[in-house]
Parts: sequence; C-alpha cells; structure tokens
Amino acid sequence: MKFKKGDEVIVTAGKDRGKRGKIEKIFYKKDAVLLPGLNIFKRHLKKRDEKNPGGIVEFPRAIPFGNIALLCPKCGKPTRVGYKITKSDKERVCHKCDSTI
Ligand SMILES: [Zn+2]
Repeated sequence: MKFKKGDEVIVTAGKDRGKRGKIEKIFYKKDAVLLPGLNIFKRHLKKRDEKNPGGIVEFPRAIPFGNIALLCPKCGKPTRVGYKITKSDKERVCHKCDSTI
C-alpha cells in the first residue's frame, strides 16, 4: 500500500493545495484519505424540528490518493514512493533520498 495511517502528506490539488497533514484514516475502497482539518466543506442545514435545529455543519471530505503526495520524513520533500524488495519484506523507499520510509 502506498499510504499508511499517520503518514505526513502534502495536498497537491484541490482547494487545500499546498497544505500538509497527517493521514487520519484511509478509505481503501475509494482510494482516498482523511486529513484532519483539511478539505472541510460546509453544509447549510434547514431547521427540521427541535432535534435538528439546522445551521452550518462542517465536515471533512476524503481526498483522493491522486491529490496528495507523501512527505518523506527523512528529506522533508514531497516524493513518490518506491519499493525495495528484501528477503522477508517489501520496504517503502523515498524516490528522492533513497531512505526507507
Ligand atoms: Zn526522502
């Protein structure tokens, strides 16, 4: 898998382009991630009854994999992920500085 929970990423497209965040949740079926505080949308709700008074609700939307890039913790640059196959494992490596991430 390209991204992992807790990975630091930078948004490369969309309204929050250039912002950074840590992956909070990954939606594998949608190929998208949730970044806390980013890609927030507001929805205006009408008052329905006493339990649903309406108002503005803010909710985060998942960002597709294609709109984020992994930030390498070693060199601090947005990078593409490469893979190195070792005897027992598959390691993620940074394309820029070649370190395991
Ligand atoms: Zn790097």
